[in-house]
Amino acid sequence: MASPLVHQAAALLPEQGMTTKPAATDRVGTLVLAMATVLWGRDARADNEVRYAWSRLAKVAADNGIPMPSDPLRVSHFTDYRRRFCTPAVVSAFGRALEDQARSVAIDLGLFPLGSIDLLNPNATNVIVADGYWVAEASSVGRTVYDIHLGKEVVHPSRSKTGNPRLAEFDDVGRTHGYCFIDYQVRGLAKRLIVCLGVEPAPMGDELTTVMAGVKRHRQALGERFGVFVYDGAFSGKHHIEVRELGVLSVNKPKGTKSLSQWEKLRNTPTTNLNKVIDWTFDTGCTAQLEVAAGLMWQLTTDIQSRFVRTRVLDRTAVRIVAAGDRERWEVDLVVRCEQCGQHHTLTVDPNVKMATRKGTVNLPEQFRILAANGGDAMRTTYGLRNNSEAFHRQLKTDTNYGDRAGSLARHHVELDMLLFMLAKNALAWAEHGGTILARQNYSL
Ligand SMILES: [Zn+2]
Repeated sequence: MASPLVHQAAALLPEQGMTTKPAATDRVGTLVLAMATVLWGRDARADNEVRYAWSRLAKVAADNGIPMPSDPLRVSHFTDYRRRFCTPAVVSAFGRALEDQARSVAIDLGLFPLGSIDLLNPNATNVIVADGYWVAEASSVGRTVYDIHLGKEVVHPSRSKTGNPRLAEFDDVGRTHGYCFIDYQVRGLAKRLIVCLGVEPAPMGDELTTVMAGVKRHRQALGERFGVFVYDGAFSGKHHIEVRELGVLSVNKPKGTKSLSQWEKLRNTPTTNLNKVIDWTFDTGCTAQLEVAAGLMWQLTTDIQSRFVRTRVLDRTAVRIVAAGDRERWEVDLVVRCEQCGQHHTLTVDPNVKMATRKGTVNLPEQFRILAANGGDAMRTTYGLRNNSEAFHRQLKTDTNYGDRAGSLARHHVELDMLLFMLAKNALAWAEHGGTILARQNYSL
């Protein structure tokens, strides 16, 4: 209740009407109550907890200039407010404003420092991690499901005896894609120094369209402070190109790999597809045979059975962003230990293009990773930042009793729940790690 973040966020919400009777509390009080419903998971439990802690809560509220009634506030005060004022458009605008707030909070806490980013060994504080997060719909009523006993599609019946079935919103293929959310996180080196930069729904479960728009938004707002983006799942070559063209390094696991150390199994194995061999000639006239596998560029050598064996992974010695109009172009330098002259030769590749092989091409955006598994600590640390997203989901699901199932029937109510959780986490991080700038801004964005 003392957090400037909460006061600032409350000022973004619609005023509550005073037409019939004076409101029990102001928008800050309503917002704090709303956050309590998410942190305590269920409305009934929040009611109990609020009643139990009322004398303490009311005192803290009074200390922070928040009007409170003498009797404990009930959660219905928030749900009434939400029903009357929080339309999908209001929730969506609130989310965008919280995103702005979160970026200022992050910068205020020393994250996203300015200065050039070492793309071979990025600093965690310049990295944004995003992840998709699914919440089951609050109710299956009205949804078409296949009944194995009847052997046909049936509409899930309602048990409602009041004529008010609990209907979740679902699309025309019977799925509640609206419950797919993307969250964005950045972290510092200190413990618990994590800022959630946003939570937004992915309509129709289309994670990548949402994610790509999110990356553009963060890059526009943060500029070169945001230099590395970590994602996984269905991230493909096309998405790597898009992110890199913004000047941001894209990081994910190579296609078809489960663990980061999987590439090690390829060492000293023969390549099975000669069509994929790249014949490379250096300026010196020396030649090398290469292959892209598990996100890495391998140097092949011939064994006594005349097979091409993956002998070593080429080390990356430099990654450059070459300004090229409105789209950034990239270059990666790889070093080959020459089998012919014994010298080292440098091979420069553009990771956004296709490279010719003996028969056909290898699609580097799809197959090759700038920051890859053999990068040792750099890859492990950067990719490991995904744990922050997973921790955010886990906390929401288990620590708060929010559970796997949405607590609200409407998509935008679930979205609001997520935003309230984000606000609560950021307010705590800001208080713990000594944020200062927002306090001076007098709660306005
Ligand atoms: Zn040579």
